[in-house]
Amino acid sequence: MNLENMLINGEWVRAASNHSFAIYNPANGAAVGEAPTGSADDVILAINAADAAFDGWAKTPARERAAILRRAGDLLLSREEPIAQLITLEAGKLLRASRKEVSVAAEFIYWYAEEGRRSYGEWIPDPLPDRRLLTIRQPVGIVAIITPWNFPAYMIARTAAAALAAGCTVVVKPSKQTALTGLAVARAFADAGIPPGVLNCVTGDSNTIGKVFLEDTRVRKISFTGSIEVGKQLMSGAANGIKRVTLELGGHAPFIVLSDADFEKAIEGLISAKFGNAGQMCIAPNRIYVHSSLLKAFLERLSFRVEQLKVGSGLERETDVGPLINRSAVDKVESHVNDAINKGARLLVGGYRLSEGAHASGSFFAPTVLADVTADMRIAQEETFGPVAPVIAFEEEEEVIGRANDTPYGLAAYLYTRDLNKAIRIAERLEYGMIGINDTRIAVVEGPFGGVKQSGIGREGGHEGLASFLETKQIAFRV
Ligand code: NAP
Repeated sequence: MNLENMLINGEWVRAASNHSFAIYNPANGAAVGEAPTGSADDVILAINAADAAFDGWAKTPARERAAILRRAGDLLLSREEPIAQLITLEAGKLLRASRKEVSVAAEFIYWYAEEGRRSYGEWIPDPLPDRRLLTIRQPVGIVAIITPWNFPAYMIARTAAAALAAGCTVVVKPSKQTALTGLAVARAFADAGIPPGVLNCVTGDSNTIGKVFLEDTRVRKISFTGSIEVGKQLMSGAANGIKRVTLELGGHAPFIVLSDADFEKAIEGLISAKFGNAGQMCIAPNRIYVHSSLLKAFLERLSFRVEQLKVGSGLERETDVGPLINRSAVDKVESHVNDAINKGARLLVGGYRLSEGAHASGSFFAPTVLADVTADMRIAQEETFGPVAPVIAFEEEEEVIGRANDTPYGLAAYLYTRDLNKAIRIAERLEYGMIGINDTRIAVVEGPFGGVKQSGIGREGGHEGLASFLETKQIAFRV
């Protein structure tokens, strides 16, 4: 089986232990390849390299850093097809979505190549006549980047490009499930001429690697994208060294359809946000609030559209919904659906795992629509991360705002209405980091992506994404 190496100090190496782990395709259980099981010693070597490279990279003019980043973006694009294939094999994503992911990953790199050249300081009016006060912005230092499997190229590009553009050096730890994609992204940076040690990529056991990131005082920032549970562990571990953290965590998005909404637009937005990536997106709607005057027609139309979705391997052209990442993800989705039905939800479409014929060796769940969902059901409280649309009726604007906000999550929310006043009024009151009004494609390179409440701290993307890798230093001098 193909064994890829890790990137430490500009070299492609095996784990010191020579151990490796296999990655399996969630669509059919076949082995995709192997990656090294990096030990604590390997991680320390990577941090040593990032430390040794830091001064040189931080002092490299932003324009030169930008040139290397642009080359990395070009290389990613030139390798779009093989990397997209890898994403589909490791994560089960539809091939067309994997291709799109690689091109968006390159977009992030291009954006930060430019943005890194604009990290301006300030000259501040000083209260003393014989003193001058100014600020400069400097890289925070070595950054540990931990990313999930659901957008395995995009997440690394989004974070690493910003950190590198800011002048930080990085150690990336991709999810084990998508380690080969992570290494392929790292290879694009390495081949673009990034100096040894500036970007390292270690694969292996997350606890082992995470522990070193937290304990090594040279690591100044943890940038984590993943579940709230692990985010809390990392935040509490980071507290000991007062390390900076950016946490991009889970979501439980409300999708609100007011009585005056463009009905078709809402359905199409919901289909793409809920069933894209088989529902495994942090910004996927998990509570669909529909005004009671539209409910019957909405459920009929939604059920009709969901029944048409074809489930299968991401490599097949006609597939609309791919596999879930593994069997335990299917178990979780199934338990949410069963819990809802036991508590009185009405099953309109799907509701079962697919385990026969072409689906026998994969982890598939049928696209599902549930009606009469209530707040006490697990699906209305916990992130499902699967292809299930739970629909809840509402009557009043005030009521739906309260219900939408009644959750510890605060990543994304969606609102469908033709009334501009209502749109603004409600968007201002929804306690979420991102609001889509008549739109669900809210993750863009130029915009700040991130959540409030337990969905995270900090923003990635946009100019905020660069700022989170910079410290502002004040310099006061007498003249
Ligand atoms: P996860 O279990 O938290 O894993 C995320 C990453 O953390 C993986 O690389 C994982 O490695 C690693 N990890 C796990 N335990 C760790 C530990 N103790 N120390 C250090 N690293 C550790 O989340 P997931 O199931 O992969 O991803 C799904 C979650 O991510 C969902 O909740 C989703 O909403 C969230 N997410 C958020 C965003 C956002 O931008 N807000 C984007 C995408 C996903 P292994 O996989 O190798 O164990």
